[in-house]
Amino acid sequence: MLTILSNCLFLLLLSSILLVDASVRLISTNETFTSQAAAFGPKVDKFGLLAHVYVPLQNKYGCVPVDAPPPTQWIALVERGQCSFYHKVQMMQQSGAIAVIVGDPTITHYVTMSSQEDTTNVRIPGLFLTRTAYQKLAQQQPTLVLLEHDDKVPWSGMDWFYILVTVCPLVLFTLGWTVVRFTAPLLSAHPTVTDLERYLPRQHYTPLNDECPICLDVFDQQGDYRVLPCHHTFHTSCIDPWLTQYRSSCPICSKEPFPHL
Ligand SMILES: [Zn+2]
Ligand SMILES: [Zn+2]
Repeated sequence: MLTILSNCLFLLLLSSILLVDASVRLISTNETFTSQAAAFGPKVDKFGLLAHVYVPLQNKYGCVPVDAPPPTQWIALVERGQCSFYHKVQMMQQSGAIAVIVGDPTITHYVTMSSQEDTTNVRIPGLFLTRTAYQKLAQQQPTLVLLEHDDKVPWSGMDWFYILVTVCPLVLFTLGWTVVRFTAPLLSAHPTVTDLERYLPRQHYTPLNDECPICLDVFDQQGDYRVLPCHHTFHTSCIDPWLTQYRSSCPICSKEPFPHL
């Protein structure tokens, strides 16, 4: 139970890390594209960001500082490649953009923009768009867009890979542990009727308890009984199937009558 609980906590933690995303809404057509937020820099907050999108004319990859377009608020739309994601965001921030959208002209799956460098100086959000959305936006620009906070997660292939390698072994371990925990008692060695006759010979006197705990019938003088080492007494016909087929312990107190078996 503890393991299952820790797995759930882990999943919750994992999803809270990955649940950072934004969508890009084209105001002119009301079309919305889902994007993946960069692993570094601030995220688009719940108020969103409304501004015109521009492709920097001097460098469509956004790898060098560019002249800011006329509006004071603008979002840079740059193409993936030529320099790192972090470098693009840095250059566009330096050029006055309030956010950067990086689009890939070829791929259709999401990529998490990350960086090994110190990214603490990044003050603007970065988003990643896949091919179709990037091409549509590039054709429409300059155009007004609203970047919105969005909790839908377009996980990338790598994210799924990390989830698989971290969560699956935990789930398998929990499953294995549960199976072993609950089936081991059933698979343990059972005494045979010969063992019972040898170690727990039938008794014919009136036992201490006056009814058989299995069938709840009152004992009579004619019946035969077995008295377990724990002193619990049962009809032979009741305790034999229990001990030989189901459990090798007393049905009342769970003590093993044959610890050596
Ligand atoms: Zn009985
Ligand atoms: Zn007992």
